[in-house]
Amino acid sequence: MIRIYNTLTKQKEEFKPIEPNKVRMYVCGPTVYNLIHIGNARPYIVFDTVRRYFESQGYEVNYVQNFTDVDDKIIKKANEENRTTDEVVEQYIAETLKDVANLNVHRATCHPRVTEEMPQIIEMIQTLINKGFAYDAEGTVYFDTAAFEGYGKLSKKVLEELESGRNDRETLRHDLAAGKKHPMDFVLWKPKKDGEPYWESPWSEGRPGWHIECSAMAKRYLGDTIDIHAGGEDLVFPHHENEIAQSEGANGAEFAHYWMHNAFLNIDNKKMSKSLGNFKTLRDVGEMYGYDVVRFFMLNAHYRSPLNFSADLMQAAANSLDRIKNGGMALKFAYDHSQIDTLTEEEQKLMEELPVFEKRFNDYMSDDFNTADAISVIFELVKFANTYTKEGASKPFIKAVMDLFDKLVDILGLIYKNEGETVDGLSDEEIQDFIEQRKQAKKNKDFAEADRIREYLKEQGVLIEDTREGVRYKRV
Ligand code: AMP
Ligand code: ZN
Repeated sequence: MIRIYNTLTKQKEEFKPIEPNKVRMYVCGPTVYNLIHIGNARPYIVFDTVRRYFESQGYEVNYVQNFTDVDDKIIKKANEENRTTDEVVEQYIAETLKDVANLNVHRATCHPRVTEEMPQIIEMIQTLINKGFAYDAEGTVYFDTAAFEGYGKLSKKVLEELESGRNDRETLRHDLAAGKKHPMDFVLWKPKKDGEPYWESPWSEGRPGWHIECSAMAKRYLGDTIDIHAGGEDLVFPHHENEIAQSEGANGAEFAHYWMHNAFLNIDNKKMSKSLGNFKTLRDVGEMYGYDVVRFFMLNAHYRSPLNFSADLMQAAANSLDRIKNGGMALKFAYDHSQIDTLTEEEQKLMEELPVFEKRFNDYMSDDFNTADAISVIFELVKFANTYTKEGASKPFIKAVMDLFDKLVDILGLIYKNEGETVDGLSDEEIQDFIEQRKQAKKNKDFAEADRIREYLKEQGVLIEDTREGVRYKRV
């Protein structure tokens, strides 16, 4: 039984999937206009680990993560650099995919982009208007928060308090003058300004507000009700609160059963963020300490605890991870050099301890993904291996310990298969992974995504070819 802390109910709950052995999971993705910082790396690592653990327990995970590719910040960046928004977006999607692959994060089953989802977004806004949850005020469409009874249920905020808490009178007066009915009503669609990208809609030439994209994409790729919706804790309000209002208003069904939020990564005990200017890019930190050290560092804390970044802590993480890696190498060495083919009597007894390690590991992981304690079990296994797989150990015994070690470190993604390499040259395994995702995308009729994966592989020097026998690839 896997238990998850659900932000909606503020307690740990037993995970019960909508469909047996399947998880429908949506994780809010980044706005692509610069390199991600190490704070952004936290949700990537945490929710990839959640996914890996579910998969290790026999679940099939449909993992959807969007790219926000239309936004004020992207437009601003494009203007500053005298480039098109398309150029900015393409560059930073490629950089982000490279960064997260370096973190050993599996690609999402599907990575939809806002600009390719306009028909679905417009349709959902229209449904909200038809059902009385949204209104058009001269080309701007607002969500009518007072019409949605459950508004505030995720963040535990009460609408009246929110309204009276708004003391920015200037903005308030401006908004209300523009036809907004209540201060907390939020934008679903807004008219273009000069020089901005826009799309046709029944209300105005313009573009969607930020929140509606996730509701529309979750519906398209995962259905009206999903199992898990995740992101960093700053997204609880207003983003996730607004997603609930939009999805439940439009679909008439509960949106997500479990809401998971990671705590923030701090630096000098202050939140790391772009606006405070105290961030470090993942690229810099990964290159300095190793991307695998960044991953280990993050998983060595519980995902709901704030985590402080410092050079000392990174160095300590590097040393600890080395102990695990050395344990793995020692096992391999012992296996390659053992000449004994049958288990000794002592080993037969010791074999019984292996499932105990695995059970303890799983118990921690099943308790709201307690990766920190799960890692301590790996350390104990390394100690066990160092004690019992030295001279005189048999091949089958070493193999059993090694298989368990590999299995546990792989659930956490701690030791990379392409050890030491960052993604400039993709490993065979990664290429197969991309090919599998492309197959899935085609199955979901997401041909744009399938083409994008083909293009991405091409950029990485890998050509793929569909043949009757299946997909072939070659490096060029
Ligand atoms: P943003 O680019 O700000 O939209 O952030 C992308 C993702 O990173 C969201 O899930 C945020 O909640 C998360 N995030 C941003 N800053 C931090 C941080 N310092 N620590 C942990 N997560 C963060
Ligand atoms: Zn979202």
